[in-house]
Amino acid sequence: DDRDSHAPGAGYVPQSDFYKIEAIVRPWRLQHVASALIKMGIRGVTVYDVRGFGAQGGARERYAGSEFTEDSFVQKVKLEIVVSQDQVEAVLATVIENARTGEIGDGKVFISPVSDVVRVRTGERGLKAERMAGGRAEILGVVEK
Ligand code: ATP
Ligand code: GLN
Repeated sequence: DDRDSHAPGAGYVPQSDFYKIEAIVRPWRLQHVASALIKMGIRGVTVYDVRGFGAQGGARERYAGSEFTEDSFVQKVKLEIVVSQDQVEAVLATVIENARTGEIGDGKVFISPVSDVVRVRTGERGLKAERMAGGRAEILGVVEK
């Protein structure tokens, strides 16, 4: 079991400058999560309405002795947030804190490396494209100008 390599602060595999945090949460928690993210300086978020099933299941149907889910998945919301590596844990903690009820169906978070970020308006790449006006880096005063 290599879970220890994914412990908080242990670094992410593979190594990258940017990561995408995909958080699947309960729809009625979206506003809590979003306002907490804005408060911490997260300015770029993409939201999707999604449907799925996990431990919470959808509606289930028995067929030949086994359970199959029919097409009545549970409605969820997915937030996609691309941030620089040093911001991942803070965003993750904020998502958990604001999405969690403790009941089955609270959701899941996936973290994956992002190769590059491009700002369409200017053609900027990398850190220049990822940094946003009024964003977390600026708030924390770690922006090199
Ligand atoms: P500009 O500086 O030209 O406004 P921008 O990169 O800030 O460019 P926006 O117009 O603010 O781009 O964002 C366009 C859309 O891209 C947003 O509505 C959002 O869905 C998505 N987005 C932007 N930044 C991120 C990010 N870091 N993570 C996830 N989604 C993002
Ligand atoms: N990392 C960016 C910044 O510090 C913010 C990214 C985001 O809001 N998703 O400006």
